[in-house]
Amino acid sequence: MTLAIRDDVPLAPLTTLELGGHARHFAEATDDAAIAEALRWADARHLPVLILGGGSNMVIADRGWDGLVIRVATRGRRFDPEGGVVTLTAAAGEPWDDVVAETVARELAGLECLSGIPGLVGATPIQNVGAYGQEVADTIRSVKVLERGSARVVELPADACGFGYRDSSFKRAQAQADDRARHVVLAVTFALRPGGAPTLRYRELAEAMASAARPTLAETRATVLALRRKKSMVIADGDPNRRSVGSFFMNPIVSAAQADDVAARAVALGAITAAAEMPRWPAPGGAVKLSAGWLIERAGIRKGHRRGAVGVSTAHALALVHHGGGSTAALLELAREVGDAVHARFGMTLLPEPTMIGIGWPSLRT
Ligand SMILES: Cc1cc2nc3c(=O)[nH]c(=O)nc-3n(C[C@H](O)[C@H](O)[C@H](O)COP(=O)(O)OP(=O)(O)OC[C@H]3O[C@@H](n4cnc5c(N)ncnc54)[C@H](O)[C@@H]3O)c2cc1C
Repeated sequence: MTLAIRDDVPLAPLTTLELGGHARHFAEATDDAAIAEALRWADARHLPVLILGGGSNMVIADRGWDGLVIRVATRGRRFDPEGGVVTLTAAAGEPWDDVVAETVARELAGLECLSGIPGLVGATPIQNVGAYGQEVADTIRSVKVLERGSARVVELPADACGFGYRDSSFKRAQAQADDRARHVVLAVTFALRPGGAPTLRYRELAEAMASAARPTLAETRATVLALRRKKSMVIADGDPNRRSVGSFFMNPIVSAAQADDVAARAVALGAITAAAEMPRWPAPGGAVKLSAGWLIERAGIRKGHRRGAVGVSTAHALALVHHGGGSTAALLELAREVGDAVHARFGMTLLPEPTMIGIGWPSLRT
């Protein structure tokens, strides 16, 4: 293995937003030893490191990354029957949706609702990827990481990963550090149910599957993909909404009293006629999850709202999209406009879902 380090590499083409500046140094790592070597190379030069997967959950500042970017391109999947489950261990660089497709083809339940999500396996534990009633924390058994400080490889059991809604201890640690590579995920092991029934707890999915007498994993995957396509949540050539990070904002998790306050404001604004019309779901610990997309639209920001080269997706109010020829600064200006509108109407601060690289939050300034 010889590590090739390139200089001044444009990052925008490596992200789904197609935005962001250059990496001062860049390495592509096709095996775990190359990841370790790249980290040593950066440490020897006191350079900050950014780990890049598929670039589908990252907003990179126009000035880029003044350090080393390591793009993870490791491959390999292994299925092992073990008692009543089958474990799947996938390398961090495996394309996520290919992995999901294979589990469905092998009739292994547990990941079917997570079909169509872009990116690579190694990023899925970082924000505990979730959709349509499943999240990876439901099936992750362990995460193999390279610990930056000690240079040790550790197999962390799921309960040591601090998973929450679009959150994990990895994400929290990254957010606190200028250097974003404290833990590099090398592989993820999932415990899947052979011959298991699909998870149909998400109402929109359950309704779309209502006519199936005995719904299969394959039908569930097909239905999820169809639902996602309607919202431009699958990246498709020619789709004007294709350059995005998916949902730009997280759904707010608030106390019951705060949720009641938001509903009362919505009634007072004439956005709804009764508080019960506001979508809300129970969250752990008696908290309430609100719909960020609903709040955005009720705050007067319409789907398709445009500011030059950036705008709100025409298919989903929660997705901010780049139409080409724009900048991260313009996207952040739009994000502020959306966030300010929601705050002014409902007193709620929306938090961004993607990782912000070189961008200060809450000011969203570079
Ligand atoms: C159209 C679209 C739809 C989407 N739908 C969903 C959805 O339904 N649900 C959902 O949860 N997300 C969704 N996303 C967001 C995104 O696809 C996921 O978060 C995905 O897991 C990111 O993977 P990635 O490889 O592209 O990560 P990147 O964007 O490359 O990285 C994201 C973060 O993870 C870190 N990281 C990446 N790989 C590693 C590693 N090996 N070790 C340590 N850190 C690492 C990065 O440093 C960064 O902080 C969507 C995005 C798009 C564009």
